[in-house]
Order: sequence, then C-alpha cells, then structure tokens
Amino acid sequence: MTNRQTAIPTIVASENGRRGARAAMELLINGGSALDAAELACRVVEDDPAEHTVGYGGIPNALGEVELDASIMDGRTLQAGAVAAVRGYGNPITLARRVMERSPHVLLVGRGAERFAAEMGQSRADQQTEEAMQRWLTRFDERGLSPDAPIPLRELAARLTGPINLHDRNEDAIPGQPMGVKPLDMLGTVNFLVLDSRGALASAVSTSGIGWKYPGRVGDSPLIGAGNYCDNHYGAVACTGMGELAIRAATARSLILYLRQGLSLHDAGRKALADLARLDPGPGQYMNIVALTPRGEHAGFTTVPGKRYLYMTAEMEEPALAERVAE
Ligand code: ASP
Repeated sequence: MTNRQTAIPTIVASENGRRGARAAMELLINGGSALDAAELACRVVEDDPAEHTVGYGGIPNALGEVELDASIMDGRTLQAGAVAAVRGYGNPITLARRVMERSPHVLLVGRGAERFAAEMGQSRADQQTEEAMQRWLTRFDERGLSPDAPIPLRELAARLTGPINLHDRNEDAIPGQPMGVKPLDMLGTVNFLVLDSRGALASAVSTSGIGWKYPGRVGDSPLIGAGNYCDNHYGAVACTGMGELAIRAATARSLILYLRQGLSLHDAGRKALADLARLDPGPGQYMNIVALTPRGEHAGFTTVPGKRYLYMTAEMEEPALAERVAE
C-alpha cells in the first residue's frame, strides 16, 4: 500500500527555487518522500553562494554577521521544526528537521540552536562570502553611512534596511503607496511546498532574513503558522517578503483555515491578502504567498503586482513560472 500512486508529484516554490526544485523532483520521481524532497530543495539553495538571501552567502545583519532562519513541516503528522538566528552553521533546514525529529521542541534559536547543531554532529562553517560582505559594505556607502557610525544600532539598521524614496517617476512604485517608494530590496527567502506520489505534503522555508537587520531579529520564515504551515488535509502554504506582516496576520495558518472553511484556493488566498492589507504595510513593505493543495492545485498571491512563483510537476521537464494573484 505504501507505494501506491495517489498523486502527481508537484513542487511549488518561490522564484529563486529553480535549482532546488529540479533536484527535489528527481528525488520524488525516484519514490522519495515530500519531506526529504523539501529538505533537499532547500539545501541546494542554501549551498548556492550566488543566492544572497538564503544560507551560505546570505546578506549579513547590521553587525556583519550572517544569521540564518529555517522551518520545515510534515503535513502527514503536523510535526514541525525550526531554527532562528543561527550563526556559524550551514544548512539551517537540516537543523530544523533535526529539531523536529530529535528533540521534543519546535523552535530553537541563537546560542541554543548552535549548541544543538554541534550535538547533532554538524561542523561549524563560516556562512559569509566575500561577495556578500562586499554587498553589505556597499549599502553603507550608498546610504552615506559607515559600520562604525556613532548612532544607535537600531537607527543604523533602520537606515540601511528602509526604503529609498526616489521622489521622481518610478515604474516599480507600489500601487497605493506614495510615488517613488520602491519595494524593499533587502528581502528574500526560499519556499518549497511538495506533494509526493503517495499524496503527502511537506513545506520548507529558509532565509538569511532581512539584510542589515538588527541582530536577533526573527521574521516569519521559522515561525510555524506565520511563514510556513502544512496540513495534508487542506494544503501547504509559505511566505516571502516582510516577515513582520505575515507574523501579525498569521498568514500561512490563516490561509489553511480559510481552505478548511470551504473556500476555494483563490478565495482563501485573496482573504489572506485582505488580512495583510488591513495591517497598513509601511513604505516598500510587501508579502508573497505560495499555496499547494493535496489535489495538486497551486497558486501564488502577492501584495505587489507583477510577482511570480515557480512550479513543477513530474510531467514537466523544467520548472515553469506563473503569475501571482495580486488583489
Ligand atoms: N520573510 C523573510 C523575513 O522576514 C524575508 C523575505 O522573505 O524576504 O525574514
């Protein structure tokens, strides 16, 4: 019974998940589980030094330290694991899975998460790359600041991460926000939602969080219910964007609850967007959502028109992009 085909393996991801999706689909086609595929997909992106918003090579915090967050959830059991603000260890998604499987906890942070990584036999590994450090420094120059500016760190971080108001015509401006405010550019995360051939769902999210963030700041990605939720009965949901918004609206779990109330995927997503709109997002702030149901139906949603997401089924040679719903 265990190998009975009940679903077409499907992967839904944020736009930066292409390489991870390919590797994960190969695993699924060979009979791998959704959980293994979601973890593998994240690891591929985490290990890519050219991806500056996730794992190795992520943009550091205001002090120049890379702090990683990740979470994973098994839709069959509703078991979940997460880590946040981890420094000096790679592949936070695997650490999150270990928290789920080898501890009675869901979330470990900072020093405790690092200690747990060592206990799990992970070796320390510097997550900084020269290129990411260069980007980190360039931002100070662009904003007329320096890493040792004699101002409180919270002010320095706010000035580094805040939006630039261009004051002139700007085609990227967010509708409904003052002309010239661009979507914030220091964001980025990878989402993977996976449906395997046995009909099991899993979700995985990994990020270095907001670049130049205040040390210890934790976004939605490692928070189950905010940036990640997965339930085999209804679906899997994950977010990217300004994590504080998804935390305040409990976006991932809310969308699942809307599905549970009987709404269609599109209506459930629109309702989650309406919840986010009520928060009156600050200048440049946005949120993206991806969702996948146990029947393999998928969609993306965004508060910023023009954003896309990635999907791939076992019937496709390559991942494809689809528009996110934005209303
Ligand atoms: N959601 C992530 C966070 O707030 C960042 C992102 O997705 O861009 O940490």
